[in-house]
Amino acid sequence: MIDVKIDPDTCENHQVCREVCPEDVFELRAGKIVVARAEHCTECWLCVQNCPVGAVTIEA
Ligand code: SF4
Repeated sequence: MIDVKIDPDTCENHQVCREVCPEDVFELRAGKIVVARAEHCTECWLCVQNCPVGAVTIEA
């Protein structure tokens, strides 16, 4: 099972992960980006590579 995490202490809510994710893993809830569908992740690493503050991690 793939675990997609956003470090809440690092995240500045740029929402780039949501924009780049081809699998719709992230979504906005009450204006804050969250991991909504980690099970859809295909480990493309686009979110990890594109997050401007390095807040996203993927663990398989
Ligand atoms: S690794 Fe790819 S598929 Fe998985 S959450 Fe990040 S952008 Fe989405």
